[in-house]
Amino acid sequence: LFLEEFSTEELEAIAAASYGDNFDDPAVAPVKYLEDGTAVLELWHGPTSAFKDMALQIMPRLLTASLRKNGERRTVSILVATSGDTGKAALEGFRDVPGTRIMVFYPKDGVSQIQQLQMATQEGANVNVVSVKGNFDDCQTGVKNIFGDEAFAETLDERGFFLSSANSINWGRLVPQVVYYFSAYCDLVNAGRIALGDRINFCVPTGNFGNILAGWFAKKMGLPVAKFICASNDNNVLTDFLNTGVYDRNRPFYLTGSPSMDILVSSNLERLLFCVTRDAELVAGYMGQLSGTGRYQVTEEVLDTIRADFVGGFAADVRSREEIARLWRAEGYLMDTHTAVAARVLDDYKEKSGDETPCVIVSTASPFKFGGTVLDALGVVTDEQGPALMEELTAFTGVAAPKPLAALVGKPVRFTDWVEIGGMEKAVSDFLR
Ligand SMILES: *Cc1c(COP(=O)(O)O)cnc(C)c1O
Repeated sequence: LFLEEFSTEELEAIAAASYGDNFDDPAVAPVKYLEDGTAVLELWHGPTSAFKDMALQIMPRLLTASLRKNGERRTVSILVATSGDTGKAALEGFRDVPGTRIMVFYPKDGVSQIQQLQMATQEGANVNVVSVKGNFDDCQTGVKNIFGDEAFAETLDERGFFLSSANSINWGRLVPQVVYYFSAYCDLVNAGRIALGDRINFCVPTGNFGNILAGWFAKKMGLPVAKFICASNDNNVLTDFLNTGVYDRNRPFYLTGSPSMDILVSSNLERLLFCVTRDAELVAGYMGQLSGTGRYQVTEEVLDTIRADFVGGFAADVRSREEIARLWRAEGYLMDTHTAVAARVLDDYKEKSGDETPCVIVSTASPFKFGGTVLDALGVVTDEQGPALMEELTAFTGVAAPKPLAALVGKPVRFTDWVEIGGMEKAVSDFLR
């Protein structure tokens, strides 16, 4: 429905190439069950051990096929702002893809050691990685400003390049994510956990609102979902928004153990607002206020519509760490820091609402990506750094690290450059020559 220029055969061939033995589980997106029946949809069995692979393994193939169909001759240049996981997943997806270049910006002190090492050791002749002296929102705003600079676009055009995004502002990121909400639902039916047609909830650890929004599109397409529980960490701007209708980014920015959710400006909320209002002018007004004063308030009617499908909650860092320890001790299930935010928020939600609807927790990363914080949560004191933390986590739990992460040990570092926020455009210009 969403990719009309492709035939079913083309899509099947592209999907088969995208979700094959580059995933370490034949189910690609397997569902596991905790003892209380809660389902966990594991989306991190791809090459970079985070859910971004679900979209970024297929998107480069769709994009380049689409460019060929449209007779595009210029080199597409992907610019990415990342809070850690998108960057690596996009680099892997676009690495050495003919007719493409990719450049990634990440916040200098805002990603985990493993995430940093994954990007700094990236292979490929068409890739570049630079860190920015700022937080994720600065990176994202910087990239958006570069996209909006028409004079720069002309310069690049003369050099034979044009820019595109691999962030979730690109629709090509959202479409593939719709699929696993359906597959998870089918898995629950096939496992006899629910009957076809029963409504379920999804609890989604959220940053830029891309993952959860794809779930909402699945619901709009007919998937029987009652509620999407939007789980935030200490950067709980979405929790407040869903409770009050006021979006206010004027607040402290916290660096947490779930760095991929350390975000105060959730890009895809704009899409949701447009989808529920169908009023471009109104939404442009909200976004104008957001970039001006950092704050906007939606009407009661808009809020009610959104709250029919979404409920917000947040778990502070210590509480999500407790959840990691609790689930490991009680269930022998090892969970990453982002997913633990969702698990804790779900506990809170169930207790407060009494809602017994079966729920799927969307699990977004391998615990080995955030080994230091996970070890700390489990009460293991260590002086180790970087990849050695993964070995330590394996030694303590008996759980093996995903192969691509284990392979980081001793891999040569290729990228060490950093820029000030104001230096991002020049860095792009230097790369695209
Ligand atoms: C990107 C990411 C998230 C947040 O997803 P959004 O689509 O930005 O809401 C959560 N957890 C992990 C591990 C991520 O990489």
